[in-house]
Amino acid sequence: AYVVTENCIKCKYQDCVEVCPVDCFYEGENFLVINPDECIDCGVCEPECPAEAIFPDSDPKAADWADANRKYAADW
Ligand code: SF4
Repeated sequence: AYVVTENCIKCKYQDCVEVCPVDCFYEGENFLVINPDECIDCGVCEPECPAEAIFPDSDPKAADWADANRKYAADW
């Protein structure tokens, strides 16, 4: 799954939400999150993010954020 990270905090863009074919973005506390159970790993959102906040969960930059994405996505 892909993971939304720190750069998304207080970002106002929604480009990623608009391109996601399975609508798996959700509102976290002050950033968007991706539901890892719904993400189909298409990668379309990654280059669309103006804040460069989205990484595949295999990327070290995503490591600290994967749990938060899962947690906030589950709150919905
Ligand atoms: Fe949605 Fe594809 Fe991004 Fe996953 S990788 S969040 S399915 S756009």
